[in-house]
Amino acid sequence: MNGAILVLSGPSGAGKSTIINHANDKIGSYYFSISTTTRPPREGEVHGVDYYFVSHAEFEEDIKAGAFLEYATVHGNYYGTSLKPVNDALDEGKLVIFDIDVQGHRLVRAKMGDYVTSAFITPPTLSELESRLYARSTDKGDVIKKRVENAKDEIRAISEFDFVIINDTVETASNQFATIANAARLKQNQEELDNLIHHWLDN
Ligand code: ADP
Ligand code: 5GP
Repeated sequence: MNGAILVLSGPSGAGKSTIINHANDKIGSYYFSISTTTRPPREGEVHGVDYYFVSHAEFEEDIKAGAFLEYATVHGNYYGTSLKPVNDALDEGKLVIFDIDVQGHRLVRAKMGDYVTSAFITPPTLSELESRLYARSTDKGDVIKKRVENAKDEIRAISEFDFVIINDTVETASNQFATIANAARLKQNQEELDNLIHHWLDN
């Protein structure tokens, strides 16, 4: 496997999707890991594009089958990253981008170690986060309240990440994200370093 993993985490409404889409042209080709979830689709979300939307029972079948690299319960729903497409993309040498929560970041880092570069993204303040969630108007008031409550815990995990992006303006935040993504591609894992040493010594 000679690809690399970039984990992007941050509270719901931090701007993860916006920033990835905006940086699209600046980060070359990459594989975006489409998660599986038991959360119902929001208006406009498409199965197989935004998420794989499955039932609780289907998700638990996949857990039993060992299909997930990681999974977690977030805001009362299951979310998980399927192992096989990620391994295939890494084998092809691709940069794999994950939009997962702070629990997922811990699990991926524990399993994938030096393949991982991570960034935590947040709006400048909690009240700005709340305003953006209301302005997005994809979730009802009680769902937004739960996400804001959850954000108060998530921010405390910020020091576990390699980089922090304060999403004040989309332009600046997406440029910072592109810089991090391009650096993640250049990061060498132990396997690549070992190969380099052998090649260097033999030539
Ligand atoms: P996430 O994917 O992290 O849940 P989104 O990308 O859906 O977050 O962004 C949440 C909302 O905030 C969206 O309505 C988006 O248009 C808006 N948004 C994102 N970045 C900014 C920004 N820098 N300034 C103002 N609004 C933003
Ligand atoms: P949303 O419901 O707003 O799309 O996502 C809610 C939260 O779940 C976000 O913090 C998002 O990063 C996280 N999430 C999405 N997919 C996964 C996943 O596969 N694993 C984990 N652990 N978290 C995920």
